[in-house]
Amino acid sequence: MNAFSKNAFSTAAFSPPARLLMGPGPSNVAPEVLAAQAQATIGHLDPAFGELMESIKDQLKAAFRTHNRVTFPLSAPASLAMEMALVTLLEPGDTVIIAQNGVFGARMAEIARRAGAVVKLVAGEWGRPVDPHDVRSALAEAPHAKVLAFVHAETSTGALSDAATLCRLAREAGMMTVVDTVTGLGGVPVSVDEWGADVVYSGTQKCLSAPPGLAPVTFSDRAVAAVKARRTPVQSWFLDLGLILGYWDGEGARSYHHTAPVNALFGLHESLRRLLSEGLEAAWARHWETHELLAERLEELGFFFVVDAPYRLPQLNTVWIPQGVDDAPTRRRLLDEFGIEIGGGLGPLAGKIWRIGLMGETCRVENVERLAEAIAAVRG
Ligand SMILES: *Cc1c(COP(=O)(O)O)cnc(C)c1O
Repeated sequence: MNAFSKNAFSTAAFSPPARLLMGPGPSNVAPEVLAAQAQATIGHLDPAFGELMESIKDQLKAAFRTHNRVTFPLSAPASLAMEMALVTLLEPGDTVIIAQNGVFGARMAEIARRAGAVVKLVAGEWGRPVDPHDVRSALAEAPHAKVLAFVHAETSTGALSDAATLCRLAREAGMMTVVDTVTGLGGVPVSVDEWGADVVYSGTQKCLSAPPGLAPVTFSDRAVAAVKARRTPVQSWFLDLGLILGYWDGEGARSYHHTAPVNALFGLHESLRRLLSEGLEAAWARHWETHELLAERLEELGFFFVVDAPYRLPQLNTVWIPQGVDDAPTRRRLLDEFGIEIGGGLGPLAGKIWRIGLMGETCRVENVERLAEAIAAVRG
């Protein structure tokens, strides 16, 4: 028997266990979205698929609250949208100011450095929103910087930053903005045009409640002009906006760039249809009300929140792990005995906090009650 013979591996089909996904993503996916994805695959240059692409662009404009012509789902996880935003705006030698108050700001800085940019870090406290005063000072100290980048909804800490103010400060300083709202979109107000943001990106597996693997992005006209005015080509072929637009924007004459994940886009269309049918305001209110119930239940169980109330993300709740509770074994019991996934801490917060997601489809009263009962049971 060799390693490649049929007897060397299992030929059983994979069947995922039933899970309630209450971590930092992915969130639960509605059966309607799963059913949409299970429809028969069609060609990515089929006119019917072209119609679907146009429809998704319109849905994303509504979700992002933008009129930006360049708004589409990147065929990639959200980290690659982060990379796209930074590597398309930044050329080697350009300066970028990055506000960092968690894991994802640090990832932005790493990407920008690898792109040859000079990174000015505005280091903030984890669990606190980005401080506009610190950002204002950094903008004054580096007036030649091209871009301000920050995370709107820091999934590693549960803190919400004031995107409108940060974008205004950057605009007043003549800089463009890159805004990560991977966890924000669909859960808290996002208003790209009102913010005057330049490049904003999200992901499908957080509050949009579609399976992971796609990343909605939107580029302002100013950002598109800046990309067109580059002195050097974007180093990444795949992330070159001009080439991608030939595929997503080439009305009537779309040219092949890559093969879009056709079935994943069936699912995204359905998840956006559900979100927009509910209404953005209604979805934000549902996240807020369900968060308040969760906060009440967790406080009854003796938990303390990491983030001060005004800056909490309703869709991503962070609490200190109580003394005497073992982090990983307790989360494992929640998973094994109750089928509930919650998240642990990242970086300096590893082993210290839990991250409890109420994202999109997961954000329901009955899920809060199920989790509260399970936590009470495992704590004994
Ligand atoms: C989840 C997340 C990402 C990365 O998304 P992936 O799809 O895992 O690449 C980026 N930024 C924030 C704030 C996130 O929460």
